[in-house]
Amino acid sequence: MQPRRAHKRRSEKELSAVRAEVATLFAEAKAYFEKGDKKLATRRVRAARRRAMKVQMPIPEYALRYCRSCEGYLKQGVNCTIRIRNSIRILRCLECGAVRRKVLR
Ligand SMILES: [Zn+2]
Repeated sequence: MQPRRAHKRRSEKELSAVRAEVATLFAEAKAYFEKGDKKLATRRVRAARRRAMKVQMPIPEYALRYCRSCEGYLKQGVNCTIRIRNSIRILRCLECGAVRRKVLR
């Protein structure tokens, strides 16, 4: 049997297709969230993350848009707070109380 490679090389074409899908899913999540349907928004976030994770694609551009713990869609000032203290960005999800810290350089 062939050994399984930890990181399969993905074609640029495949990655850009996934990137587009993730963008669409996040746009849908935003729309549902704004309509007040958090459940469907969360579902879109989850789908987007699974899609990106499957091809091991980081999505830092959406880091502040969702909660890693409950996978809910986050909007600053609505259901999450973002504070920066000593060059550490502190993202707190007000849905589940999870806190995520990121050292900024
Ligand atoms: Zn949360």
